[in-house]
Amino acid sequence: MLWLGFPLHSLFISTNPTTNAQMSSTAKANGKGKSKSVADSMPAAELVSARPLPLADEYFATLCAGKHVQVRVEDARKGRGLFATQAFKKGDIVFTEAPLVCAQFLWNEAYGYKACHQCMRSLESPGEMAARLATAPTTVVAAGSAVAKPRTPFELPFMDQCNLTIATQQDIVTCETCSLVFCNAACRDAAMESHHRILCTRNDADHPLQLLQSAWKSIHYPPETTSIMLLARIIAMLRQGLDKNSKDAFTAFQQFYRCYADAEGHFIHKFLDKKYDKQLAFIQELFKTALYDDRIPELFTTHGFRSLLALVGMNGQGVGTTALDMYLVAVERLNLSESDAKTRDQFVEKLLDDIDEHSGEFDACEGSALYCLQSCCNHNCQPNAVPTFTENNATLHMRAERDISAGDEICISYLTPEQRHMRRSRRMATLRENYLFMCACAKCEVQKAELDISSESSDDSESESAECC
Ligand SMILES: [Zn+2]
Ligand SMILES: [Zn+2]
Ligand SMILES: [Zn+2]
Repeated sequence: MLWLGFPLHSLFISTNPTTNAQMSSTAKANGKGKSKSVADSMPAAELVSARPLPLADEYFATLCAGKHVQVRVEDARKGRGLFATQAFKKGDIVFTEAPLVCAQFLWNEAYGYKACHQCMRSLESPGEMAARLATAPTTVVAAGSAVAKPRTPFELPFMDQCNLTIATQQDIVTCETCSLVFCNAACRDAAMESHHRILCTRNDADHPLQLLQSAWKSIHYPPETTSIMLLARIIAMLRQGLDKNSKDAFTAFQQFYRCYADAEGHFIHKFLDKKYDKQLAFIQELFKTALYDDRIPELFTTHGFRSLLALVGMNGQGVGTTALDMYLVAVERLNLSESDAKTRDQFVEKLLDDIDEHSGEFDACEGSALYCLQSCCNHNCQPNAVPTFTENNATLHMRAERDISAGDEICISYLTPEQRHMRRSRRMATLRENYLFMCACAKCEVQKAELDISSESSDDSESESAECC
């Protein structure tokens, strides 16, 4: 039961080419007293245009270095795609990739899923996680208020025979000035270097970032699809990059799609419906208060903020990490005697039943992330690859779903497994509303042709049976 990821359903989508073009041509960056800063040569306005900027071939060549894939445009309608440069067998890992940026969902964190704030590694031990997920919480009264009592970690059978890449308690560190946790000092240092200097709240409960997170949680309850902290990290990465006069973060974020309305300028996602205007305006104001920088003012306007939301909505990849699953997979693979195997199977069956009863499917550290190569993969309703997370962190392993030949395009599904089995018209509507395109994959074309034939012989609209996979 390894967690298989799929792109998030975007919350926020739009495009307004006219405005974008105007903004790009008229924008000017406000350097902080420097006459030739990165902000001058890489204006933030370019990050709020609807389409990704055409990037130099060298950029993608560097991304693909050492991997057997290539980014190129083969079909102008679809734009760029990712192509295999060698054959892969079903089950092979086509490439692995660390996230450009990732963030755990806020409610997920609030519910006790402890994850590294840099790599999203699940930081509970498998026994701690099993105890938390498989038992009802008990409460104790402390200082006049009821608090959850820590559960005693489960003793997991054959744990000593499982070779797991899980965080060790002695390696876990916190930021020196706030209480955020990291799986080790290297992750903490990397977070400091990329974004945490700006995002550190120094444990101040009234810090604008704390207020922003509370407000976000009040409008976005589970099941969560993205986090305002993913946007905050993008801003922090841009700002810390500017501090070092580095273009890297700008260049990386330029490649992502970030449209939030249809061609007529209508917002098309329900979250951007007029009825949410007030809440989004409130979040935007808190976001500005917490993170404003006069070198990148375009990102704090209504258009800029919505473009950022669109960026994470259209490109965000769901991530799930769990130390317990690492154990379950490892223990399943052990070569045990018949009686030991029976002990294991009975234990695992009972554990999964108990987790089902007490936690349902809410059983992993969940968040969203942006990946440079994965975001180059186009959608197909019958994908030949699927993103997986097998290292108990946000490192993505793109696994071949079937044999892939050299030269084949590597496609993933932007739909959830359930949505992939919907009738064609519903798949089309979901993709159009969330990703602004009409799918023309082989499956959709075959089903469209079948529909044309059936509508010649009858007046029936699309039938479920004809549309199912
Ligand atoms: Zn980490
Ligand atoms: Zn901190
Ligand atoms: Zn399709």
